[in-house]
Amino acid sequence: MWNFSLIKPADFRVPARKVTRVFLHCTDSDNADLVGVGLAAEVNRWHLANGWAGIGYNFIVDKIGQISTARPLEIQPAAQLGPDGLGNVATIAISTHLSKEWTAAELEATRELVRAIVEAYAAIGVEITIWGHTEIDPRPCPVYPWRQLMGLDASRRFGSAPFVDPGELANEPPIVATRAWPKLTIADPAQPPIGARPLFEGCHGDDVTKLQATLTGAGFDTQGIDGWFGRNTFNAVGAWQRAHSVTPANGIVAPGEI
Ligand SMILES: [Zn+2]
Repeated sequence: MWNFSLIKPADFRVPARKVTRVFLHCTDSDNADLVGVGLAAEVNRWHLANGWAGIGYNFIVDKIGQISTARPLEIQPAAQLGPDGLGNVATIAISTHLSKEWTAAELEATRELVRAIVEAYAAIGVEITIWGHTEIDPRPCPVYPWRQLMGLDASRRFGSAPFVDPGELANEPPIVATRAWPKLTIADPAQPPIGARPLFEGCHGDDVTKLQATLTGAGFDTQGIDGWFGRNTFNAVGAWQRAHSVTPANGIVAPGEI
């Protein structure tokens, strides 16, 4: 059982495990009274109820700008799927109460925490890049305009542009388009050769593109060939596996299977 506590950005301490990225997330709570450690505990309960090993984020920020610890920093976060999401990340969630709404306080606290993380790593010579979950996983998360809020440049680092007042952004429409940002050009893990790794939801790369083309060509429509293994590709893989009596038909493609 994990204990949660409120922290300030300056309390951030670099964990022993390797971290090179910060991922930003959002999560919904329909209980307006949940803040601080209570919010962390609630999200933790959801994750446990889903059969996961507790809350996947390392921090959670509430709508009044309090930061609670969540999954212990020394433990790998579990809020991103796939090879780009596993390893090397610290994650942060914002409570977007009642979906697609956010407050200046929560965005400001998130910004300060991210800056503290970046600075803590800069002090030990590690350069951190800052990502939205949707950049590696086809979901509209986070829903807030994280790039403007953080003042990120195209390399996903704090740029020279001034921060935008979170209060101004509060009136912006939620982000729904995914991956509108230029395709990753830095810190992207080397792509494994086609057929060299298992493929599952959350993966992306040339091998996923080839898989989608093969499936679609065989009559198992992936609803597009974009190199991102999302829910449609998952469904197509499952249909292919059932048609070929593969057990388990779990939507995970073993190397060379398809
Ligand atoms: Zn997310």
